[in-house]
Amino acid sequence: MTPNYTRTREACVRLNNDLGTLEDPEVCYILTLVPTATATGGICTNGIGSDSDPCQGNTPTPNPTVTPTPPTLTDFGIEFEGIWSDAEKVEVLMAAIETGTALSSLRASSNLVEAFRTVLQGTNATGAWRSIVFSRATNSGAFCITNPTPNSSTQIASISCDTRVVMNLYTAVHEFGHIFSLRTGNVFRSNVEYPNGSGQLGLRIGNVNVLGYRSYTGLVGGDQTDWQRSDVLIDNGWGDAALWDGNYRYRYDFATQVPDQVGLSTPTPTPRATALPVFIPAIGPCNTGSPTDLPIVNANFFPFQQNPCTFPNWIVSDVSTGKTVEIEEAVADMFLNWVFWKNSQGQEGFQNELWRGGTCYPNGCNDPANSGNVRSAWMDATMIQLFVTFSW
Ligand SMILES: [Zn+2]
Repeated sequence: MTPNYTRTREACVRLNNDLGTLEDPEVCYILTLVPTATATGGICTNGIGSDSDPCQGNTPTPNPTVTPTPPTLTDFGIEFEGIWSDAEKVEVLMAAIETGTALSSLRASSNLVEAFRTVLQGTNATGAWRSIVFSRATNSGAFCITNPTPNSSTQIASISCDTRVVMNLYTAVHEFGHIFSLRTGNVFRSNVEYPNGSGQLGLRIGNVNVLGYRSYTGLVGGDQTDWQRSDVLIDNGWGDAALWDGNYRYRYDFATQVPDQVGLSTPTPTPRATALPVFIPAIGPCNTGSPTDLPIVNANFFPFQQNPCTFPNWIVSDVSTGKTVEIEEAVADMFLNWVFWKNSQGQEGFQNELWRGGTCYPNGCNDPANSGNVRSAWMDATMIQLFVTFSW
């Protein structure tokens, strides 16, 4: 039997009363098991015997209650090393359920555990499922690093999180997004880098860049190109990019490409650009080098933008590494948004929002270009194609 799940956001319940309380109401769901088939019993054939009880000789079963057991972390092949609270393990389990539910929607016949394991883990030479390991480490900041482990027959990847990270389901799904790209041989990352195909400019709505490379030739009189997950002028759809660290921001001068670090005493929304140069928040980490590993002091994480890393390519000489990291983080966030968008029928995940500028800060305002719809449509089509390509 394949259990289905319905999810609502009306209240907070725990999957297991033995585990810790979920503190953030934003991440609380009711997960309701809905059996796909109801076992029936007590069918009386009434064909054998002739006494007063037409069912004598059979064993009537009085409408058995079917109670499927919710999947466990063990079912998903998720293991933990180091210190993790029970509440964090619940978050990871919920993340696996959300991810498996979304992935199973693209398969003809599959339960969510099988979908999760088929797409994200695969099997080794003996046919055994590989695992995902959450481990603890001391990173340069409070973030996780997903490391592929291609030489291991038992494990597909380890998600190594700094001891300061308090895991929640959005972060966990984001990390699963890194594993997803890994499982496509980084084809998915290439899709995100060139959403319209190699050599093309990015996904656009008129002059609004939604994802990919943007040329500023007409804007600055020189041939400048930068990869963006959003439009640097308006920050459509991705909330964190509109917030900046109160201590560090940069003048994004396409003409000179000269970094200009400006200190502020109080957090301020990134202003909407009315003239060049525009300002962007110095947020990271996009790279291990200075200054892209600056701590995020005042940028509040939005659930659906787990790593807002922006890499203005004039900051360090190693352009390729920083740019790749920026794209890879957008990859994981695109996966995160798609999972929740899919499961909620468009109510969560991709948003039609603008963020830059005082009136749109900090709650966003409507994006008439419907950038969220454009991203979700592109993402859904891309996922469907990847499932065909990899026979999932
Ligand atoms: Zn990431």
